[in-house]
Amino acid sequence: MLAQRLESVRDGIKTACATAGRPADEITLIVVTKFHPVSTMRELYALGVRDFGENRHQEAERKAEELMDLEKRIHFIGQLQSNKAVAVRRYADVVHSVDRPGLVAALGKASTQKLDCFLQLNLTDDPGRGGVVPGDLGALAELAAATPSLRVRGVMAVAPLETDPREAFARVRESSEFLRTIIAEATEISAGMSHDYVHAIAEGATHLRIGTAITGERPPAS
Ligand SMILES: *Cc1c(COP(=O)(O)O)cnc(C)c1O
Repeated sequence: MLAQRLESVRDGIKTACATAGRPADEITLIVVTKFHPVSTMRELYALGVRDFGENRHQEAERKAEELMDLEKRIHFIGQLQSNKAVAVRRYADVVHSVDRPGLVAALGKASTQKLDCFLQLNLTDDPGRGGVVPGDLGALAELAAATPSLRVRGVMAVAPLETDPREAFARVRESSEFLRTIIAEATEISAGMSHDYVHAIAEGATHLRIGTAITGERPPAS
């Protein structure tokens, strides 16, 4: 089942890329394995998956430990408290949810190595949702650019449920273009989930974060 669902998403990505006139190798598929056991991650690894998305620190840390033997990348995609930043840096290869000055400062501390990160946008009117409002992206980008141990790769966003995803991802593309005026190499876009990734590809996404379409329904949070 897992193999079939993964194959069908990989096919869906190829088709969406062809429609958008984009090469499929521009896309990194991150399989979101939150709440799923490490056995599922090992199965996915055997099917060629190398990029895994996790959104809760303690769970992600434990899984990273248990999967130390695999050549994989862990993408931290959840809201992140500043006091967990140093701990997350130890196992995460990429943090997609950098959304405020305090977190930039916390992630930037205590390391000389570069951490890849995305600046997360909040496309809703609800400040509790995580992400920087597009109007504050410039200031956050300047701060991150001035932080030697961070490498900003681009913008990240979740399309709000209540709006047209294509329109939401078009706004993400605009913010991405704006970000590049501040950090020229921050060209990537982390956007697109199980139900909307085709629209994200149409608007230039380079990193898809796909869970349930591949793993099936998530087990309840433990
Ligand atoms: C859970 C999650 C996803 C994956 O969602 P699906 O609908 O299962 O594909 C993507 N991005 C973030 C930030 C998530 O928390």
